[in-house]
Amino acid sequence: MQLHKSKLIENQAIIEYYAYIIRIIYYYMKGATCVYCQKPLEGRSDKIYCDVHCKSSHQYQKTKEGKAGFYSQVDRQLKLNRKLLKSYNKAGKATVRQSVLLNGGFNPNYFTHIWRNQKGDVYRFVYEFGFLKKEEAHATKFILVKWQDYMARSN
Ligand SMILES: [Zn+2]
Repeated sequence: MQLHKSKLIENQAIIEYYAYIIRIIYYYMKGATCVYCQKPLEGRSDKIYCDVHCKSSHQYQKTKEGKAGFYSQVDRQLKLNRKLLKSYNKAGKATVRQSVLLNGGFNPNYFTHIWRNQKGDVYRFVYEFGFLKKEEAHATKFILVKWQDYMARSN
């Protein structure tokens, strides 16, 4: 009788062990792995992290990537702004309708620095290409200029 009972316990342990192995294989095949460390997940099927450490590490990583994403976004806009200003200002000075630049993807809120002339007009620059918004009777325009050495000395 005693022997019979311990045999049952032994069988039960083997069954549980195989169930555990099958569950691990199942999670591997299903692809239910920790979002952060990629280890197969056990237990509740709605879990996405092994533990709180993986959860906080992943959230830290996401925040870091989010900041890098913002950097690239600003960088892309500055490059596009510069390209547009350059293409419409081949002579060093030009006037262009605001709508033309905006249609090309220009965003006047993204610039690298400003320069104020003696009249008090504030030009915004994207590297060496500057622009000043000018309201005219029929259309809003941008006066385009190129950076000159003397601009660095004035304010
Ligand atoms: Zn993990």
